[in-house]
Amino acid sequence: MFFHAHPDDEALLTSGTMAMLAAEGHRVVLVVATSGERGQADLEPGEALGAARIAELYRSAAALGCARVVNLGYGDSGLAPGGGVAEDRPDNAFIDADGEEAARRLAAILTEERADLLTIYDPAGGYGHPDHVQVHRVGGRAAEIAETPIVLEATVNRDPLLKGLKLVRRFYPRLDVRAFERAYSPGETITHRVNVRRFARQKRASMAAHASQATGADTRTLGVMLKVPEPFYRLIFGTEWYVRRDVPSGSRLRHPFEIPPKG
Ligand SMILES: [Zn+2]
Repeated sequence: MFFHAHPDDEALLTSGTMAMLAAEGHRVVLVVATSGERGQADLEPGEALGAARIAELYRSAAALGCARVVNLGYGDSGLAPGGGVAEDRPDNAFIDADGEEAARRLAAILTEERADLLTIYDPAGGYGHPDHVQVHRVGGRAAEIAETPIVLEATVNRDPLLKGLKLVRRFYPRLDVRAFERAYSPGETITHRVNVRRFARQKRASMAAHASQATGADTRTLGVMLKVPEPFYRLIFGTEWYVRRDVPSGSRLRHPFEIPPKG
């Protein structure tokens, strides 16, 4: 089970792993906390945007071979202009939800699916969106309640990310690289490096499915990513990274279900 904050987060962080596990015959379930109705798009933020983004999520899930999509239905907390928690967030914002209740709802799905594995985010919530931090908290607690054996924190190896973004910035000078300098995780904390190059086509299809986030202003992350030429794309998006807290940091595991060597 892959737990994400908003539609399109799965495309950027875990879509290659999802396509890989589906191709191996695993039942892959995608759960989002919100419909992302306060994302950047040509549509005004609100219900129509939320509905459009959920439709995009289903297209992405289909491209990846997911068996089921669940939306927990919390409000997208949005992001304050300078980062952090937005003041004008909706009443049912995910960030304001009762964490224990949200965790129990997610745990019920984990139990129903007899999930072997749950992905959440790192404690910083990647680039720090409040809903992503909440995914870490709620997801971690849900796995405790459901006694899910494997919890992986989906993240990005900051070191090659910065290198790659600096390369992309040569072509798109308005791309703000500074925002990524403290985001995600440094290489030495990462325990899983999953090679997803064979699933580059599915990953790209998943990103392309989120058209509302990829069109319009060319500074949007997804829009920029989709313009990356194919060879660079495979280089930048060929690996997905995870931190598993109950294996020694510095482990170099290659598959989500790989068992670390003893000793
Ligand atoms: Zn998000």
